[in-house]
Amino acid sequence: MSESTLSSKLFATAKKYIPGGVNSPVRAFRNVGGEPFFVRRAKGCRMWDVDDRALIDYVGTWGPAILGHAPQCVIEAVHNAAKDGVSFGVPNLYEVEMAKLIVEWVPSVEKVRMVNSGTEATMSCVRLARGFTGRDRIVKFDGCYHGHVDALLVAAGSGALTHGQPDSAGIPKSYAALTTVLPYNDVAALEECFAKQGSEIAAVIVESYPANAGLILPQPGYLQKLREITQKHGALLIFDEVMTGFRVAKGGVQEIEKLTPDLTAMGKVIGGGLPVGAFGGRADIMDMLAPDGPVYQAGTLSGNPLALAAGLAQLREMEKRRGWQRLEELGKIMEDAVLDVLKKTGRNYQWYRTGSMFCLFFTEKPVHNLTDAKTSDLDAFRKFFHHCLKKGVYFAPSQFETGFISLAHGTDELAQTAEVMQEALMAL
Ligand SMILES: *Cc1c(COP(=O)(O)O)cnc(C)c1O
Repeated sequence: MSESTLSSKLFATAKKYIPGGVNSPVRAFRNVGGEPFFVRRAKGCRMWDVDDRALIDYVGTWGPAILGHAPQCVIEAVHNAAKDGVSFGVPNLYEVEMAKLIVEWVPSVEKVRMVNSGTEATMSCVRLARGFTGRDRIVKFDGCYHGHVDALLVAAGSGALTHGQPDSAGIPKSYAALTTVLPYNDVAALEECFAKQGSEIAAVIVESYPANAGLILPQPGYLQKLREITQKHGALLIFDEVMTGFRVAKGGVQEIEKLTPDLTAMGKVIGGGLPVGAFGGRADIMDMLAPDGPVYQAGTLSGNPLALAAGLAQLREMEKRRGWQRLEELGKIMEDAVLDVLKKTGRNYQWYRTGSMFCLFFTEKPVHNLTDAKTSDLDAFRKFFHHCLKKGVYFAPSQFETGFISLAHGTDELAQTAEVMQEALMAL
């Protein structure tokens, strides 16, 4: 971006006052180079930056914008709720409505508590699982992101069964040592882990469809295996559906795969673009939470009326418009177009999609785990990304992210996107 744009001026100022100039690292464009743009306005499937450039957006505020940006129903719900007060700190009507909706929609959830982010949701699941089982060890998977929770910001060591190493400064090694990191989609590694550590494991936490290393889908039977082995060893199974919940289906991955995790972390779509998370599951486990039980968890703004009004409005609109069915149709249209583009450009890149979530890996190797994903040609991705951005199509600024289609993406925009992708691939 040239020095003279308003975005680049804002970024220079931002860097003076905000670490890295951003409030969340991936926004800084470090994976693709260059500088981020600043947005002025977003509506439907488009964003307009402060330099008045229009972009077709496939990031959708990293998942929440399932109806598109600034849907009328959400704007009205927030307006109306705000008239009656923006926060109470005592129980309100929206909390009961939201809890009832989640329990009705998400198959495994019998009771649920609201929080303010996906990170809070997974953090609370981990504490609750430890409190309930009286065990300390957590198993997670390489490439799964669960927010910036100490116990979960852990990378695999060299061998599959090495204890995790902190993935961030500031996390004591002794915390990370309580986390075992396994490769995703690897049944043998899972079995070996449970054979050695089964009696120590409080929970296995998994992104039911991993969507923070690109998009990775489970091999047939893999999630079922997770359910069986945890049950056998008295460990809990935590589905992190912060990304997939209310996105891939009304009831998330667990509805599609017909699986019953013990606990589920939710976020993103559930808040309609406002800061909301939730976690829920089996009633006997959830009843371990304070004030009924010994596991402490709390939040000044949890169950905030504006946030829940926005979330409820978005979820009900999705239901009213049979949104998930339409998103599958749109996803298929995009898929057909992209596969056609790959054929025309002679690229054998790996394409993965489930409903409205997609990823094009710039590798010819099928991707079943993070190691496979890392075979991607990051230089080619970087060029592709910048070409698309220049032509008005905004994909996530990293190979290791998932793209999102919203209900506001029309067939015209999808066709235009495929054209731009084709040009970008030809220019590589
Ligand atoms: C985004 C995300 C989180 C963290 O949610 P925040 O609201 O950013 O704290 C956790 N898990 C998954 C799978 C996510 O995609």
